[in-house]
Amino acid sequence: MLRRSTPTLLFKRFKHTVLGIDLGTTNSAVAVVGTDNQPQILENDEGKRTTPSIVAFTKDDKVLVGLPAKRQAVVNPENTFFATKRLIGRKFEDQEVQRDLNNVSYKIIPNNQGDATLRTFSGEIISPSEIGGLILQQLQKNAESQLDEKIDKAVVTVPAYFNDSQRQATKNSGKSIGLDILRVINEPTAAALAYGCDKSRKDGIIAVFDLGGGTFDISILEIDNGVFEVRATNGNTHLGGEDFDIMIMNHILQNFKNETGIDLSDDRFAVQRIREAAEKAKIELDHADEIEINIPFISGDKHIKQKLTEAEFDIMVQPIIEKTIEPVRKCVRDAEIKFKDIDEVLLVGGMTRMPKIRKVVEQLFGKEPSTAVNPDEAVALGAAIQGAVLSGQVKNVVLLDVTPLSLGIETYGGIFSPLIPRNSAVPIKKEQMFSTAVDGQTGVEIGVYQGERTLVKDNKKIGQFKLANIPQGPKGSPQIAVSFEIDADGIINVSATDKTKYPKDSPNYGKPNTVSIQVTEAGLTDGEVEKMIQESAANKKADEEKRKLYEHASRAEILCTDTENALFQFGKLMEDEEKAEINAFLKTIKEMIDDIRTGKNLHDPNTLNQKVNDMQNVCMTAIRNVAAKQSKQ
Ligand code: ADP
Ligand code: MG
Repeated sequence: MLRRSTPTLLFKRFKHTVLGIDLGTTNSAVAVVGTDNQPQILENDEGKRTTPSIVAFTKDDKVLVGLPAKRQAVVNPENTFFATKRLIGRKFEDQEVQRDLNNVSYKIIPNNQGDATLRTFSGEIISPSEIGGLILQQLQKNAESQLDEKIDKAVVTVPAYFNDSQRQATKNSGKSIGLDILRVINEPTAAALAYGCDKSRKDGIIAVFDLGGGTFDISILEIDNGVFEVRATNGNTHLGGEDFDIMIMNHILQNFKNETGIDLSDDRFAVQRIREAAEKAKIELDHADEIEINIPFISGDKHIKQKLTEAEFDIMVQPIIEKTIEPVRKCVRDAEIKFKDIDEVLLVGGMTRMPKIRKVVEQLFGKEPSTAVNPDEAVALGAAIQGAVLSGQVKNVVLLDVTPLSLGIETYGGIFSPLIPRNSAVPIKKEQMFSTAVDGQTGVEIGVYQGERTLVKDNKKIGQFKLANIPQGPKGSPQIAVSFEIDADGIINVSATDKTKYPKDSPNYGKPNTVSIQVTEAGLTDGEVEKMIQESAANKKADEEKRKLYEHASRAEILCTDTENALFQFGKLMEDEEKAEINAFLKTIKEMIDDIRTGKNLHDPNTLNQKVNDMQNVCMTAIRNVAAKQSKQ
């Protein structure tokens, strides 16, 4: 979420340049807010505005980044690392990683911690974060030579659905090369920022449709009075430009086989050349009805010379394009809006330059997509604006992202008490007071959970810690403040402090008693987050009822303890009949609580409450009788 106190931006001369970097799966870009106070893309050494996210290690120990790495991919496939962003912050066992194993020409292996890492042909091990670092370093060098100054700070973008460990790993990319990543922000939010910080724009609901090289992301944001709120995100982590290239490549291979009888699909060298020609053909078809694909000497003295029309291509890729439709529909549903409520559709990602995609988007949303932002540049430009905000160059803009799941702790009876609800703007700090549940309790275990369900057992546990040395006392007397803090990068800190006011003679007087943990890895995959949200929606009503019932059970338990205390104090003076009646109530109610907690019988809360009230009445009458007896004596 982005909050802006006034719709206009005020600029002042900058002191420290902060780069805005779109570290893309396929291509990366770097931008900066210049002295003219406008964000601008910085070109690389080849005069290009984007740099392929490819790193290669050559036989003569050179490290190549960007276009030079891409150019030699055909002859050095095992040492040319592309699309490694798909592996960053992931475990080797992750489904996403397993799926990629056979699609890449390089080796992916697990390290000691089970993280997905890369191995060069000569046996060197390198992490996806380090590959990211080498790309960042190249972009930093380009920027320094363009601006003629040293720069060591950046804002880097990540997909909205990146979890804590993927964000951490992205930050580590910067660390590995000494670049201070001040903030990681979400790609669609950055694109919206590039769009929305132009003062001519009106408030409203915008959709960001991002189709890149390997992934598809759709986000719906609301701009309202300077507040940019991400309403919903969706997508497909395996859908992008590569699928279109493979489609054309297979078409070329089939035609060649039909013409010559030669099957080239096992010839790695030929396949790589055809794949490159396919991508080139795809891009040429943006502006031509028909193009010619020429690949000389593909096999012995045989050449490829084929024609491809735009109409043929459109039909061929129709099934791929259709895969974007369902995530868009879901996203609109999740945002709780209708298509007609969307005021602007922003196109992001190289693939959205394809005319057919634009047409499909227009039909789907029922309006022409905006041409206000450049699909290859908007994300980096937005990151640069955020960088300028952090350096103090741009005033009156505060960018706040949101947390994807609620965060809270376990309270008595296995109930999840959220402290920070899902979709809260970060950074955020929340504090709540808790107390002990049992008399004489000297420590509290604090279980930290993330999720949307009522009971902690249905959510994801992300940490556990204990606040000890609480002096013995009646239940409910200690004052324990639990505070949750999520910083702007989505990293979580939880702490518990004993804030009880102790008398001067207490050994605890004036002694600070606090425990805290840093949750560095929530470890939730995209799928898990989505599943948790879906489950929570599906179980909303049942969960609500269960929560109420659990609360009634907890209340009943507390009142049982009070009644037992009364029996302990006054029992000797009560009539045997009264005592027997109270004990019978206690037995029944405790059994009911047990049934509820174990799920054996979810009693009607009204019946439970009635029993508790009756018990209290009988107990009160007995106490009054005792008092009457005592006053007579
Ligand atoms: P990422 O966000 O994954 O880094 P990009 O947004 O840079 O990716 O998109 C890269 C994809 O866009 C590639 O598959 C590339 O072939 C495709 N692409 C780039 N320019 C065009 C174009 N003019 N027409 C069609 N596809 C394009
Ligand atoms: Mg991108």
